[in-house]
Amino acid sequence: MTLLTPNSPTEDLQALDAAHHLHPFTHGDELAAKGARIVTRAEGCWLTDSDGNRILDGMAGLWCVNIGYGRSELADAAHRQMLELPYYNTFFQTSHVPALNLAAKLAELAPGDLNHVFFASSGSEANDTNLRLVRTYWEEKGEPERQVIISRWNAYHGSSVGSGSLGGMKGMHAQGGMPIPGIHHIDQPNWWSEGGYTTPEAFGLERAQALETAILEIGPEKVAAFIAEPIQGAGGVIVPPETYWPEIQRIAKKYGILLIVDEVICGFGRTGNWFASQTYDIQPDIMTVAKGLSSGYQPIGASIVTDEVAGVIANTEFNHGYTYSGHPVACAVALENLRILEEEGIVDRVRDETAPYLKERFESLADHPLVGEVKIVGMMGSLALTPDKATRAPFAEPGTAGLICRERCFANNLIMRHVGDRMVISPPLVISKDEIDTLVDRARKSLDEALAQLKAEGLMRVAAE
Ligand SMILES: *Cc1c(COP(=O)(O)O)cnc(C)c1O
Repeated sequence: MTLLTPNSPTEDLQALDAAHHLHPFTHGDELAAKGARIVTRAEGCWLTDSDGNRILDGMAGLWCVNIGYGRSELADAAHRQMLELPYYNTFFQTSHVPALNLAAKLAELAPGDLNHVFFASSGSEANDTNLRLVRTYWEEKGEPERQVIISRWNAYHGSSVGSGSLGGMKGMHAQGGMPIPGIHHIDQPNWWSEGGYTTPEAFGLERAQALETAILEIGPEKVAAFIAEPIQGAGGVIVPPETYWPEIQRIAKKYGILLIVDEVICGFGRTGNWFASQTYDIQPDIMTVAKGLSSGYQPIGASIVTDEVAGVIANTEFNHGYTYSGHPVACAVALENLRILEEEGIVDRVRDETAPYLKERFESLADHPLVGEVKIVGMMGSLALTPDKATRAPFAEPGTAGLICRERCFANNLIMRHVGDRMVISPPLVISKDEIDTLVDRARKSLDEALAQLKAEGLMRVAAE
């Protein structure tokens, strides 16, 4: 067969894609009818598609391209590493230079005594590791009854059977036999959708105390760990009330359960610090990282664990690992990515300059008639769309307003994702103030157009109680 190229006609690319390529989180027939948008190249914060459109990527790919597209240093690092040692494993008492360097670098960057790293190729794999790791930890500690992991509804921890079960996405659980046993979900700290009857502060405490209630119901001697994202990403950038994390921390300590903090999105500068555990003063026992670790240039994830957890696990042979755990090319690229983030002061610039500017500009959208709540921390933010601001009412047809708004964003050459009727952004950390202006201007234009369309189609209707 003849392979197509980025310069092939869009309809040929779409036809071949539809003929053979199964897409994640996509309705196949709908996509085939419409044709995929084919992205051909990218530079900085900008994508180019096969029709030659230049699109501002307000999502950093899938929350991952923290240093932006087109950094040749990462390509060079991959090239050098492929020539020197393209692959070797880290099983059975072997190691190699990129893996040992990256583990040490992560130990240096991660807060507290998170000093030991188990590598994977994705966030899903790292959370699968965590699932087995915490249970093995308690077995080694002589408390094998501690098997249950508590998580939250509307959490996202990945798409494998283990990590998808840890997550709390009901649409995922409905297909293919998830969740697996031994995982218990509590409610999320989403004040806008679920907490309007009280203040955000009181609601944050209430939703944190749900952890204590669950521990007592299950029996504290049976609970191994609690897993959570500091800020829920795929769930719609749900920023918890300030009262939430201190109370979670208190409860986890009180019952001696392990705290797994999933920093796959929040890590590597997204919240204006290296880790959101620093932003929220959380002390994890285990931290999940992926995405921004390599800025998406290579697939890599990891579990970073404390001295204490590593010490206990070292008492046994942990029968777990992936062929590509600590893949040399992925590690070399991640190291180069971390060097750039650090030496170019990208995280500091986010915290001191661009995130405050983005916050001011993004929050200005609060006056839009379609926008209820605006939430933003660092470089991740969301807008809750509503047909009635005063009552925070949901739409009669949930998800439609979000979808229409996302389509308007596409038409205006802005990538902004929708999660139900929340619009979310997570731009590359290198976005400039000018580009932030472009992002917010295009978002407002898209909101205007979405509002007009919703009105024209009679969709500005409040859901019945
Ligand atoms: C994306 C994500 C994952 C899964 O990572 P993959 O690399 O897609 O497997 C896990 N946790 C969180 C918080 C994520 O956002």
